[in-house]
Amino acid sequence: MQLYNTLSAEERARLIDEAGKERLTLSFYAYAKIEDPKKFRDDLFIAWNALDALGRIYVAHEGINAQMSVPADQFEAFRDTLEVYDFMKGIRLNVAVEQDNHSFLKLTIKVRNKIVADGLNDETFDVTNKGVHLKAKEFNDLLEDPNTIVVDFRNHYESEVGHFEGAITPDVENFRESLPIINEQLQDFKEDKNLLMYCTGGIRCEKASAYFKHQGFKNVFQLEGGIIEYTRQIKEEGIASKFIGKNFVFDHRLGERITDDIIAQCHQCGKPCDNHTNCANDACHLLFIQCDECKAAMENCCSTECQGIIHLPWEEQVELRKGLQVGNKVFRKGKSEALKFKKSGDLPDKPLAKAEIKDIRQKIKVKKTLVGKAEHYFSKSKIAQFLIENNELSVGDKVLISGPTTGDQEVTVSQIFVNGSFSDVAKPGEQITFELPFRVRLSDKLYKILDTENA
Ligand SMILES: [Zn+2]
Ligand SMILES: [Zn+2]
Repeated sequence: MQLYNTLSAEERARLIDEAGKERLTLSFYAYAKIEDPKKFRDDLFIAWNALDALGRIYVAHEGINAQMSVPADQFEAFRDTLEVYDFMKGIRLNVAVEQDNHSFLKLTIKVRNKIVADGLNDETFDVTNKGVHLKAKEFNDLLEDPNTIVVDFRNHYESEVGHFEGAITPDVENFRESLPIINEQLQDFKEDKNLLMYCTGGIRCEKASAYFKHQGFKNVFQLEGGIIEYTRQIKEEGIASKFIGKNFVFDHRLGERITDDIIAQCHQCGKPCDNHTNCANDACHLLFIQCDECKAAMENCCSTECQGIIHLPWEEQVELRKGLQVGNKVFRKGKSEALKFKKSGDLPDKPLAKAEIKDIRQKIKVKKTLVGKAEHYFSKSKIAQFLIENNELSVGDKVLISGPTTGDQEVTVSQIFVNGSFSDVAKPGEQITFELPFRVRLSDKLYKILDTENA
């Protein structure tokens, strides 16, 4: 029986594109008593692998916490795999606002001590004595109450790009750190204030609310299903959002826009921006906010030091990394001296700018001619492969790469490889590759730009 992934992320991305089927990004969690987490894990792997469900899942004696991508046409079959367990009957699945077929490219189910690292000793308090669960409308109403203190139980890099108006946003790297800090800060308000708590999907508040009640807080409330479920409800019921900005998420999208307010700044130039990225130097991999101009100028790096490193031959980079921890195991999230505009702790409620709403009709008119289509993207080496179908493409040409997920991206072609060797020009029928800083999808079209004029 196959219990682990056999495909690489690149192979999986290619299969997903080729299948051309819509996928749903979703998350759920449940606290329950699991006798044999290892067997539970294996059973889930077999059931989900058969449905082509992907994601990052943690199971423990205390329950399950899952972030997943499921083929849309298998959604009901997927739900059936949950319903076989009594504790997941009728479970709420948080479906993401923005969909991306590549949100997860592997099925990883890990057995852990806990489903959320909270640092709490569960034996010392009653974990089932939770706070009152609130729906979006009730949460908004309570926010209006002057007697309410609202606390964001997420980390600094999450609250920086979006949070509820007036929320306390602890300057913490992880959930475990935030509990004692908040407890200390709110010592004098245990009796008379409403403690209103929220997180991304609700899971962190499930136990934190019980912990705070145990600490003596009398009126403890939590946002049911977190920001994800809040967003769904305000859209469905036409309620005004009291959450401003973006909801940070842990798949490769790194954020879902909730309102068009931009409340964060590019960490390098200070311009209003809320797009997270990871430093292109694999040995650094720092998570930080970078605007498009800085991305181009810095080649997606967090510092000139990292920019220097990515230009070294690969063997030298590997040599430099020896003795260091593997890049993405280093949890330095957005904390670096090189980033002058990083903000955490007390965050502003005032938007710095409005995000552009993508509307095709308002776009700049581009005179262009179709040249070919995308065939593949090699993520590791950042190389895109296209098939030239019409016209010619020459080095120095400005091109537009366009597709539903990719959007419209303009680049100048500085090098072309035809059948693996340099070429100044590519002709119809030829398969070409060149370096591209972003992923392209199978359906993307390649245009040559002839002329640009503002509409
Ligand atoms: Zn910038
Ligand atoms: Zn870096």
